[in-house]
Amino acid sequence: MAVEYFKGIPIMRPMVDYDNQGFWEAVKNHKLVVQRCKDCGTYVHPPRPCCPTCNSFNKEWAPASGKGQIYSWVTVTYEKVGYPGMMCPHSIVLVDLEEGVRVLSNVVDMKPEDLYVGMPVQVVFEDLAPDLTLFKFKQIKGGKAKKGKK
Ligand code: ZN
Repeated sequence: MAVEYFKGIPIMRPMVDYDNQGFWEAVKNHKLVVQRCKDCGTYVHPPRPCCPTCNSFNKEWAPASGKGQIYSWVTVTYEKVGYPGMMCPHSIVLVDLEEGVRVLSNVVDMKPEDLYVGMPVQVVFEDLAPDLTLFKFKQIKGGKAKKGKK
């Protein structure tokens, strides 16, 4: 099951700013990237002006594998508290990427009751409008849950 949207209600869009525009440009091209400090190598997400480890402003966009595991999630079942325009139920997941950062997204091709902590997932991209692509996650079939590496 993918997230379904009500027709006629505008889909909420990410707020693109100076710090995250490289991230969203990559998503539009069906690529996932993570901000990385060029001085100490720390991966940073969400993107920000400077490195939280060494305070450097010297950063780059590093390709991400797109693989990770579910850290946690919430399933929205009541439309008045859900994201405007998104049909219920839909799940909002926190995914720990292999790069060591945590991202917030949705899932596709999964029922909410099938989600579990540690589920191995892979990024997918959905073109929702000519100028709107979002990244979501699907289960890696046959993948095994891994213990946290932090
Ligand atoms: Zn740094």
